[in-house]
Amino acid sequence: MEKVDCIIIGAGVVGLAIAHKLGNEKREILLLERHKHFGQETSSRNSEVIHAGIYYPAGTLKAELCVSGWHLLYEFCKTNNIPYKKTGKLIVAVHNNDEILLDSLFNKGRGNGVEDLSLITEKQLKTMEPHANATCALYSPSTGILDSHRLMKKLEASASNKGVMCVYGCEVKGVEYNGIDFFVDVVDLQGEKSKIRADVVINSAGLASDTIAQMAGIDIDKEKYRIYFSRGEYFKINGFPPWYMNHLVYPPPGKTSLGIHTVLDLQGQLKLGPNAFYVDAIDYHVDEKHVYSFYHSVKPFLPFIKPGNLSPDMAGIRAKRQAPGVDFADFIITGENDKGLPGLINCIGIESPGLTSCLAIAEYVEKIYRNL
Ligand SMILES: Cc1cc2nc3c(=O)[nH]c(=O)nc-3n(C[C@H](O)[C@H](O)[C@H](O)COP(=O)(O)OP(=O)(O)OC[C@H]3O[C@@H](n4cnc5c(N)ncnc54)[C@H](O)[C@@H]3O)c2cc1C
Repeated sequence: MEKVDCIIIGAGVVGLAIAHKLGNEKREILLLERHKHFGQETSSRNSEVIHAGIYYPAGTLKAELCVSGWHLLYEFCKTNNIPYKKTGKLIVAVHNNDEILLDSLFNKGRGNGVEDLSLITEKQLKTMEPHANATCALYSPSTGILDSHRLMKKLEASASNKGVMCVYGCEVKGVEYNGIDFFVDVVDLQGEKSKIRADVVINSAGLASDTIAQMAGIDIDKEKYRIYFSRGEYFKINGFPPWYMNHLVYPPPGKTSLGIHTVLDLQGQLKLGPNAFYVDAIDYHVDEKHVYSFYHSVKPFLPFIKPGNLSPDMAGIRAKRQAPGVDFADFIITGENDKGLPGLINCIGIESPGLTSCLAIAEYVEKIYRNL
């Protein structure tokens, strides 16, 4: 039976960032991914926004790792020629009381260490983004966008150069611990089964991270590790030239999402999204009937968009620990010594801002690894 020092499960942006961080010539590390390539799930179905860290309650991992994460990510993009753009973001006040919400977001963001936020007037907004309507806005100059595929490609190349073996088409079916080592059951695309022995197992399996924890014997309901799927759909905005808008424009956030906002790609093309609704299964279908709810949600602050400008684009699924009706749930990134599983590190509920935070998550996991 093959024996390695560490198995990382899942080659999304989080598993790849961990592999890049942990890889070194003295450790034998396997990165196992069930698809034929990296980034086939949530990491390539998102808004590609580098968030500043405005929304999350103080003292949470989401707040801490988002703020440290964006600093690391911009630096990594710059050093490694990964396309990105600090577009800046405007959260606009459109309804009564939104101004109070923006004030409280300003304070929350400042409390989280986002120092460059400012509240701007309607007149300033009109100069910055003439096509948006609002009575005032919260401006975040550090928010930006990046090419997440290029980021993942670079992380994979870096991990491979450091000796990490990235194995694709290899699905983890079981994780057992005998008090000394972990035994990981895998099956390849031809249906061939094998068992690999490892000292350390890192679970960065995204939408299946709760299933992996359960395989290792953790009661996912008792520990609040269960993942709830929340679908987010996008619609393309047609009929406007590239860079018709220069900033990301958001409404104030709702309880389970940031609200339907503009999404910009690096070519200046505009989209709207994502909405948010809980689903039972992974299904990336975009319901074209939702065009009217998209239209109505953005009409107050993006009056130039008509239903005829919108066409279905893509969807992603959030790996939420937040059950329907619950207010907030943080990332879980933890070693499992206290559950009698020393050597297991779980990353659970890595929804947004997981892309922004990936390098900070990798640093956090490395600290846990060093203390095992
Ligand atoms: C609609 C939407 C918009 C978002 N927008 C943003 C944003 O703008 N900015 C931001 O910072 N974040 C955003 N996010 C969040 C971000 O996309 C995620 O936090 C991040 O991609 C999570 O990466 P991951 O590696 O944990 O998960 P994934 O990318 O899902 O990777 C997990 C991997 O594990 C593999 N796997 C699962 N089970 C097994 C198994 N048994 N064996 C082997 N492999 C397995 C999967 O195939 C997958 O490749 C958004 C998310 C969504 C859904």
